[in-house]
Amino acid sequence: MAADALAELAKRRGFFFGSNGAYGGTAGFYTFGPQGAALKRNVEDAWRDRFTLREGNREIEAPTVMPEAVFEASGHLEGFDDMLVECPECGESHRADHLVEAVTDIEDAEALPGEDVEDLIADNEIACPACGTMLAGEPVEAFNLMFATDIGPGDAQPGYLRPETAQGIFVEFPRLKEYARGNLPFGITQIGPAYRNEISPRGGLLRLREFTQAELEQFIDPEEDEPPLDRVRDVEVRLYPATEQEADDGEYVETTVGEAVDEGVIGSPWVGYYLGVAKEWYDRIGVDTDRFRFRQHLAGERAHYAADCWDAESEVDGDWIEIAGFSYRADYDLSKHDEYGDDAFTVFKRYDEPKTVERATVDPDMSVLGPEFGGEAAAVAEALETLAERDPDAFDGETVEVTVGEGDDAESHAVDVDVADFAIEEVTESGEHITPHVVEPSFGVGRTVQTLLAHAYSEDEVDGESRTYLSLEPEVAPQDAAVFPLVTNDDRLTALADEVAADLRAAGLAVAYDDSGSIGRRYRRQDEVGTPFCVTVDRDGIEGDGPDTVTLRERDSAAQVRIPVADLAEELTALRGDEPFASVAERYDAVDTDVETAGN
Ligand code: AMP
Repeated sequence: MAADALAELAKRRGFFFGSNGAYGGTAGFYTFGPQGAALKRNVEDAWRDRFTLREGNREIEAPTVMPEAVFEASGHLEGFDDMLVECPECGESHRADHLVEAVTDIEDAEALPGEDVEDLIADNEIACPACGTMLAGEPVEAFNLMFATDIGPGDAQPGYLRPETAQGIFVEFPRLKEYARGNLPFGITQIGPAYRNEISPRGGLLRLREFTQAELEQFIDPEEDEPPLDRVRDVEVRLYPATEQEADDGEYVETTVGEAVDEGVIGSPWVGYYLGVAKEWYDRIGVDTDRFRFRQHLAGERAHYAADCWDAESEVDGDWIEIAGFSYRADYDLSKHDEYGDDAFTVFKRYDEPKTVERATVDPDMSVLGPEFGGEAAAVAEALETLAERDPDAFDGETVEVTVGEGDDAESHAVDVDVADFAIEEVTESGEHITPHVVEPSFGVGRTVQTLLAHAYSEDEVDGESRTYLSLEPEVAPQDAAVFPLVTNDDRLTALADEVAADLRAAGLAVAYDDSGSIGRRYRRQDEVGTPFCVTVDRDGIEGDGPDTVTLRERDSAAQVRIPVADLAEELTALRGDEPFASVAERYDAVDTDVETAGN
């Protein structure tokens, strides 16, 4: 399906459209219409259900504006850059690495130095995609993607819109660990907006300047904690390891999570665990698993601290797009904040049994050091303490050498060992402070939404008419059902249709009501927005002595059954869960599709 057909449907049917159209539009910003907002919310709820609730994790909500110091520590201020090249003629900005990737075999031009990319632009005679002017000789610059802002008036504090939700979790680790009572492992999730001043936004929801992320930071003790791998051991995955990407005839590795971890294809069992959970989740929400793979980062693509990194990729319109990243970040984030911040980003790990350890101590006699070293006596005493910890053997002789001051001011002093009062003491320790490691599954919600729409888009023929429909899973579809009175000139029918819609809404279902146009057109309208079930109130259902009935039609098969009104809320609730329509249909009388539509 062509990207523009989807973009057209998305706009016409209220999924999403470029923002601020009345003011000429703003590239990189999209508004979700009523259908899209509902679909997105359902995807977020499904993510929350799987990655927060079912994992026993906790969710937080942190501010989107953070002070500069946070991004100094995280490294974003220094290195969150993309390669920018500007057209000297029309002024259009482009991602230099993407231009190079489009015309060469290079898959990861971002990893190359700027000068090499400049050379590649010249050698390959790359022209501006907007106006065709040659870009050879134009500088390739590092462009920081963070949106800057001021916090407060006057001598305001510089701040930035967060480029990922993760920092809001890392920064609050000193408090979050208390809520976990200091016990590892624990996971914190967050769903919310992130901002990146992308050089060239494109592809609908694929590359935006404001987008929603769903992130999980799993804090673990790297020496002790293991994931519950058995839960996903048998999940089948299509892997595209770095070695296969680099080989001339590289292939996918079709395997299971368990095998991939056992054989070391996936380096970290934690990453393996979450790839398995993610694969099951994508399948559940309606990603076509034949158009889905996990691709390992190439060495140059990986952040230096990340031991193992995989992306979940979906095929949309012939391209593979990254919809989520899974990385083993080791202690990088917490160590950085521990170094830059004023709090402790460690946890106290209690030993099973207290340990008795030998510790070297000194207790310098200041009544001797004072007269001998004057103003430097305190520094000498401190140097003795540091040396005792670091190198107890230095106290074996009659005197010990210590250095005070730094650089050109450094001075060595000999101190009598008796004056230092060196001793080895036995102390009992109940534990130690460790910096947890972090495993991070990071999902793009908009890219997931776009994937679902692309994978759900279908065309077929019903009753001799061609139709377009979105085969969305009931769990994520914007509406759970639509209710129609078959005709509008019968008060009994419209009253019952109103009542049915109100009852279903009261049961917590999202229900559309439509009484305009032929019933066939109403079905098509709902098919196009992916409403999985339509309920039609007709005369047959209210005549006779029995309980009132309605027809229930399933979107993909267009099959219909006649069902008592009293059963409707319960059955639709089950269908929104994972009950298949076929098993519900077995309990009721089938309705001939032709007869129903011919009635209009
Ligand atoms: P990253 O931190 O770059 O690995 O991003 C994590 C996830 O956020 C990616 O897998 C994408 O799904 C999503 N993402 C990143 N950048 C954008 C963007 N500019 N627009 C939409 N989604 C994005």
